[in-house]
Amino acid sequence: MDYDVIIVGAGPGGIFSAYELAHAGRDVRVAVLELGKPLDRRRCPIDGKKIKSCVHCQTCSIMSGFGGAGAFSDGKYNITNQFGGTLYEHIGKAQAIELMQYVDKINMSHGGEGTKLYSTANTRIKRMCLENGLHLLDAQVRHLGTDKNYVVLENLYAELKDKVEFRFGAAVTEIRRTEEGYEVFCGEEKLTCRKCIISVGRSGSKWMESVCSSLNIPTKSNRVDIGLRVELPAEIFSHLTDELYESKIVYRTEKFEDMVRTFCMNPHGVVVNENTNGIVTVNGHSYEDPAKHTENTNFALLVSKHFSEPFKDSNGYGESIARLSNMLGGGVMVQRFGDLVRGRRSTEARIRESFVTPTLAATPGDLSLVIPKRILDGIIEMIYALDKIAPGTANDDTLLYGVEVKFYNMEVEINERLETCSPGLFVIGDCSGVTHSLSHASASGVFAARCVLEEL
Ligand SMILES: Cc1cc2nc3c(=O)[nH]c(=O)nc-3n(C[C@H](O)[C@H](O)[C@H](O)COP(=O)(O)OP(=O)(O)OC[C@H]3O[C@@H](n4cnc5c(N)ncnc54)[C@H](O)[C@@H]3O)c2cc1C
Repeated sequence: MDYDVIIVGAGPGGIFSAYELAHAGRDVRVAVLELGKPLDRRRCPIDGKKIKSCVHCQTCSIMSGFGGAGAFSDGKYNITNQFGGTLYEHIGKAQAIELMQYVDKINMSHGGEGTKLYSTANTRIKRMCLENGLHLLDAQVRHLGTDKNYVVLENLYAELKDKVEFRFGAAVTEIRRTEEGYEVFCGEEKLTCRKCIISVGRSGSKWMESVCSSLNIPTKSNRVDIGLRVELPAEIFSHLTDELYESKIVYRTEKFEDMVRTFCMNPHGVVVNENTNGIVTVNGHSYEDPAKHTENTNFALLVSKHFSEPFKDSNGYGESIARLSNMLGGGVMVQRFGDLVRGRRSTEARIRESFVTPTLAATPGDLSLVIPKRILDGIIEMIYALDKIAPGTANDDTLLYGVEVKFYNMEVEINERLETCSPGLFVIGDCSGVTHSLSHASASGVFAARCVLEEL
């Protein structure tokens, strides 16, 4: 055997598996195979001047490389079982929280110290939400910020690189089961291991499907979240963001009784493009460093859709909507809320005259031509509901970017040890369909590593 353990993917799931294996005090030979680049060589060519939109690089530096999809993220580690994944269904609620706290401790000792841990517990904001038909979910939120998140990753890499073998530019193409373990192929090259942990994230979803089908691992379809990113002056949400940083608020619409929820709130942040398999959608983040703060706050409003019979491809549905927006806007579209409710498109001139300055150069257009009516109606209803707790949300100049789509991987059948029916093959993080966040993905990495150590 070349290695005791091969980890596929160097996102948070893979990194924390490697960390736990390296610090177990055992002589375990570990390799991490990552198709992207080392952290310091990850560069997205979009500079907003010469290159304004996605040029579809062979490997996307935003989604791939050391740190995974989370490397340039806002670094919000939500310590909760209420959102971010369903890891607790496999390992129990108490253990899931314990592991998220353990990950937080490691982040704090690797450059994250001094960052704030926010909490929704016992806040008057919760009551204010309830009085207005809105529900604030419980969580503790560690906000590292894009800059500190990067430093933590740098420090983790510096510590791990001599204990674990990292191979970058190593796209795993196939995994075969043998009597003793697994053969892991990177094209022609074959590596062997006793145990294998797969953590290829959302960007590896298609490949994960092929592994499940070749090893007869059962899967089932998952949901897709579709919506918009809202951008408004930071003052409008400051009473929420100063106290909670991120508030996850859920609203049940009157018209269709659909659930609409806020997602990924970025006080004083920026709106950014996100590229998933060539489809450009919108996202956002913010920096811990006040010098990099903007005047705006952004957050997403999302509605979940899950298709099962006869159409099963929830992600395909989300992709089609995102493709439509890419076709009309050449990428992400932006519209003033006032233009949307008046049934007219936004133009360059209307955006220029707006009192809110966009932080992303998106194409002014009409989002009602892209987003299905039911979803859009729900989002508009929620904007009016949020206006009651944060007056100014439903202002004409509030900017809406579309579309924001959260793709979820199909759910891979894994047991309470996060192991598949193929013994010794563990599937963790977002590619398992079980986690959708930094904290849950990282915690699943620690957990799987501990199970592997027991088995070795
Ligand atoms: C812009 C952005 C902002 C975000 N902000 C937040 C946030 O603030 N808080 C939060 O909780 N979550 C956030 N998320 C989500 C979070 O980043 C993910 O939930 C998390 O990174 C999942 O970790 P993972 O290890 O499962 O997968 P990933 O981070 O996706 O890592 C998977 C790695 O596997 C590699 N890989 C894929 N296929 C192969 C292959 N065949 N061979 C070898 N390597 C492969 C990829 O290159 C990638 O580096 C954000 C995501 C984005 C894109």
